[in-house]
Amino acid sequence: NEVRQQRTQRLESLGQLAGGIAHDFNNLLAVILNYAEFIVEDGADTPFALDAEQILRAGRRGSELTHQLLAFARREVVRPKPLDVNRVIGEVQQMLTRSIGEHITLGTALVDGLPAVVADPGQLEQVLVNLAVNARDAMPAGGHLTIDTGLVHVDEGHPAVREGLHPGGYVRIRVSDTGTGMPREVIEQAFEPFFTTKPSGEGTGLGLATVYGIVVQAGGTVQIYSEPGVGTTISILLPGSDAELVTDDAGRAVRPPGRG
Ligand code: ADP
Repeated sequence: NEVRQQRTQRLESLGQLAGGIAHDFNNLLAVILNYAEFIVEDGADTPFALDAEQILRAGRRGSELTHQLLAFARREVVRPKPLDVNRVIGEVQQMLTRSIGEHITLGTALVDGLPAVVADPGQLEQVLVNLAVNARDAMPAGGHLTIDTGLVHVDEGHPAVREGLHPGGYVRIRVSDTGTGMPREVIEQAFEPFFTTKPSGEGTGLGLATVYGIVVQAGGTVQIYSEPGVGTTISILLPGSDAELVTDDAGRAVRPPGRG
């Protein structure tokens, strides 16, 4: 519990710092990118065309990085609402399939009738995307990615209670891959912001820290089960809410009117 509190506080102050820098940096990058685009467009047959393209490429990479920093800092307004996790998974499934590439297959096993969870839909999508990207990176030669959901009763003896969860009904989302797996030292540091084993320029070390921050903020927890050479399962528990699920025009679950 204390570990969780310390970790959350560290995440928060790091997030504030990173978010502030990323925000200002992103504005500067936008200007640089804008002018580089002008040069690429208008100077196509000048000696500077190739140089300008290099600026554009590096600038876009920088911009991606600041977006990851911003996601980690979670400076956007959080709008938690009762969500059907199966529905959210269904909505991002196509995007995930595209981002993992053709050599990796995606399967889902979703249990019907789960209680709603109260979370920001955009953030929950971010969690799934980050985990899918990690799974992809762990399966360079191909493999299988599975997303499954279920209902878990956390009782007093459950290991998650030691991490500060209250006993009760939780919705579990598991993202499993058949990739490289993680040695113990990597598992131990995986949630640390900026911890990465990926080559410089490829990993930011913010993926799992972002996942952790989002899930803990929603009252849940994240566990890593991994075996080198076999694969990795990231298991997320989110408290089940007793809110009834109704869906709006966009198919999102919303709380029935008159219940706050
Ligand atoms: P990044 O992906 O940018 O390195 P993360 O915080 O998402 O940052 O992950 C931290 C590290 O944890 C990764 O560099 C990798 O070593 C390890 N990792 C995360 N997910 C997986 C996975 N599914 N399989 C194997 N290793 C993983």
